[in-house]
Amino acid sequence: NKQVVIKNYVSGFPKESDMEIITSSIKLKVEAGSKAILVKNLYLSCDPYMRLLMRSQGSDLFTPYPPGSPITGFGVAKVLESDNPEFKEGELLWGITGWEEYSLLKSTQGLFKIEHTDVPLSYYTGILGMPGMTAYAGFYEVCSPKKGEYVFVSAASGAVGQLVGQFAKLFGCYVVGSAGSKEKVDLLKNKFGFDEAFNYKEEPDLNAALKRYFPQGIDIYFENVGGKMLDAVILNMRIHGRIAVCGMISQYNLDQPEGVHNLMSIVYKRVRMEGFAVFDYYPQYGKFLDLVLPNIREGKITYVEDIAEGLESGPAALIGLFSGRNVGKQVVVVAHD
Ligand code: NDP
Repeated sequence: NKQVVIKNYVSGFPKESDMEIITSSIKLKVEAGSKAILVKNLYLSCDPYMRLLMRSQGSDLFTPYPPGSPITGFGVAKVLESDNPEFKEGELLWGITGWEEYSLLKSTQGLFKIEHTDVPLSYYTGILGMPGMTAYAGFYEVCSPKKGEYVFVSAASGAVGQLVGQFAKLFGCYVVGSAGSKEKVDLLKNKFGFDEAFNYKEEPDLNAALKRYFPQGIDIYFENVGGKMLDAVILNMRIHGRIAVCGMISQYNLDQPEGVHNLMSIVYKRVRMEGFAVFDYYPQYGKFLDLVLPNIREGKITYVEDIAEGLESGPAALIGLFSGRNVGKQVVVVAHD
């Protein structure tokens, strides 16, 4: 069983050499009465939060990966053996699994059965999985959008951002996205239908850039990056604006987080800033699928994936999130079926 193992806790920018590929000869077996399932992993999802699990210190949400063991993350897998009445042999699921060819999953909590297979299976690591639910919960529930509002999305071409922008457009908002390359900016404007987009790396003054794109101010900010961008956005919020704090990827490799300086504007503008965690919204997964699946089938929502082939390519793909190497949702293919 080939596995991606984390060697030690990581500080600073993660490196491929923080992980190694090993082959375990331990035989995985489903014990009778254990309620466990044995799965074959097909697609693995590279998600920014995984960096937070590489730290030596956990948080309210995350427990660090134990050094020397295979890392875990979201994935799509096929059930090979089951002692659990909820999952039968041959069924497909998505949820937390191991970064390895085969995993023995001792609990089926947080695993979702895949019922619709007329769309690419890899979508269950992205648009139809955790990141898709994040975009849905963050935009519809946390941002409380109104038609015609002005929306800004950072890391806008990524797994979550590309969908937030499309939801906002379908809802009738004006949407601007930021991303880190010309290729990504082109995708935002030409593929995902954002009204405007800009490369934040080429803007020496983010406050001035935001004033250019939002002369009237921002009603909704979908926050994915934190740091300087957040500071500049706060200055440009409209009265009664909302900031959905989804993540702050610019802070994940720093031992000391950067300071945010403009928070008084939250008071002046009476802005609501709210953090959220996707799993609180899992009970709405069925409702989410009912909204998104027809839109995918009718071509009204599109999704871009960046596919890395083979478990061996996993470490490079994962750390690539932090240099912006991925264009769209970063997926690792372990096996096609
Ligand atoms: P992406 O697919 O967007 O990949 C990460 C992207 O972040 C990179 O491609 C890069 O794009 C950008 N980035 C990397 N480093 C920096 C930096 N220093 N400053 C600015 N941008 C940077 O990731 P996801 O869509 O999966 O995740 C987006 C955010 O959502 C993350 O913050 C993540 O932690 C959060 N999240 C939160 C959840 C929740 O429950 N609250 C659930 C899921 C995700 P670019 O080239 O544009 O710089």
